[in-house]
Amino acid sequence: MRDISNIVILTGAGVSAESGLATFRGPDGLWEGHRVEDICTPQALARDPVLVQTFYDARRAALATVEPNAAHRALARLDAEWTGDLLIVTQNVDDLHERAGAVRMLHMHGELKSALCRRCGGRAPWATDLIDGPACGACGQAGGLRPDIVFFGEMPYQMERIEAALEDADLFVSIGTSGAVYPAAGFVQTARHYGAQTLELNLDPSAGSHFFHETRIGPASQLVVEWVDELLDG
Ligand code: NAD
Ligand code: ZN
Repeated sequence: MRDISNIVILTGAGVSAESGLATFRGPDGLWEGHRVEDICTPQALARDPVLVQTFYDARRAALATVEPNAAHRALARLDAEWTGDLLIVTQNVDDLHERAGAVRMLHMHGELKSALCRRCGGRAPWATDLIDGPACGACGQAGGLRPDIVFFGEMPYQMERIEAALEDADLFVSIGTSGAVYPAAGFVQTARHYGAQTLELNLDPSAGSHFFHETRIGPASQLVVEWVDELLDG
């Protein structure tokens, strides 16, 4: 096994579950009571903008009621103390990694705290509701702002940067993600192809569990803290 210098971490909804945010496919196969295809597609937004905007407005407002948990804090500690390269790629649209203090991170599926203008393509930090059709700060168009969320069928953000980091990774760690959503679900194979060790930390084994060198099963608040302690304190 080669020495570990470059680390890429992929996180999913499971890392925020213990903060009180529902995962994508809960036990009933729904996200907060909705079928995913009724909420997370460009077609859904075109067909029923009130439903989709109201749904994401509620998710954005809910961020004020939750706090980062021990897993977010451990990853922020790793970011602060790890002297090699590190990139946290989150599929989450919440802001809990950055509120815990993580800096070397990106939101590949967009973020609730950002709005995207359908007219000019501008992205801007956004903290309040979009249902009232506020004007875009860049082009002035009213009613054109949508949640800055990557819907199914849309291209995730920063794929080139992610691919480059995966090619250089010595260690790839996937935390709290079901492995059902591509391209993120394929990151383990890319990292492994380029020689990385691969570790999964998850409450249930993901669809792609067999691609990992090692899988540890349990809650993120426990497994992530243990793994970060292992890495930093030996
Ligand atoms: P998912 O809901 O499909 O899978 C969640 C995974 O987390 C499962 O494997 C489950 O076993 C695991 N899990 C649940 N509780 C856990 C815990 N306490 N500790 C460790 N693991 C736990 O989520 P996903 O794979 O991230 O799906 C991706 C999509 O869901 C993304 O596009 C994302 O934007 C969206 N989403 C985001 C949030 C958020 O930002 N918090 C919430 C729901 C959905
Ligand atoms: Zn605009």
